[in-house]
Amino acid sequence: MPRHDFASQRLAVRGPLSSGATLALDAGQMNYLTNVLRMEAGAKLLVFNGQDGEWLAELVQPTRKIAAIRALERLREQSAPSAITYAFAPLKSARLDYLVQKAVEMGAGILVPVLTRRTQVSRLKAERLQANVIEAAEQCGVLALPEIRPEIRFPEWLKALPAKQLLIFCDEDAEPADPLALLRGHAGYEGIVVLVGPEGGFDPAEREALLARDNTCRISLGPRILRADTAAVAALAIVQTALGDWR
Ligand code: SAH
Repeated sequence: MPRHDFASQRLAVRGPLSSGATLALDAGQMNYLTNVLRMEAGAKLLVFNGQDGEWLAELVQPTRKIAAIRALERLREQSAPSAITYAFAPLKSARLDYLVQKAVEMGAGILVPVLTRRTQVSRLKAERLQANVIEAAEQCGVLALPEIRPEIRFPEWLKALPAKQLLIFCDEDAEPADPLALLRGHAGYEGIVVLVGPEGGFDPAEREALLARDNTCRISLGPRILRADTAAVAALAIVQTALGDWR
């Protein structure tokens, strides 16, 4: 696989990409490229759509009010989506933006907002979550756009969790112990789910239900209590190191 080109502008586009394909840009993308970045017709950029790999493209601008990209050459093959699901109690606005962006950068393939008893947010703005996913994917070079599932209440979520998936339960009450050593003992699952709780932590009944599940690995993220958005980054770094693509 060629090295990622991190210097070029990378844009997520909608529609199939093939040699010569021309895709219209939406108003926000056009404004960003032509007004903010001051790119002109013929300028090169990288585009991806989550399915057809990454393409070198050029900006096409037939009139001042319309802009499109024309795909020129495929530079990277499409990569498979990550098998890591990040399940999290949603946080309020700016922290949620941060959490979603970081989870994408850290390589989560699916994001699931789980409404636990102490979760303080119940209604999520799907469009804003999606915008954060796209922004982070454009930024970090992920080609398979992570999927955001609708929010779900904790009991339903736990019940629907496939039995053969490994659940990595980040528990602020767990005794500190080397999480890498714990996780390295786990292999051969059909997917990995990482769970991080809300600012108020897990409720005792939730903890009990989690620990009663087979194929659950409870880990500590050290002797300090991390904020949930910090825990997202810490937990995913450990999981990528022990079981994921940092190996
Ligand atoms: N209010 C709680 C802390 C919640 S922190 C308390 O004071 O106990 C939010 C979430 O981040 C937790 O539910 C857990 O999933 C994760 N987390 C934070 N610190 C952690 C740690 N040291 N070990 C494991 N998980 C942690």
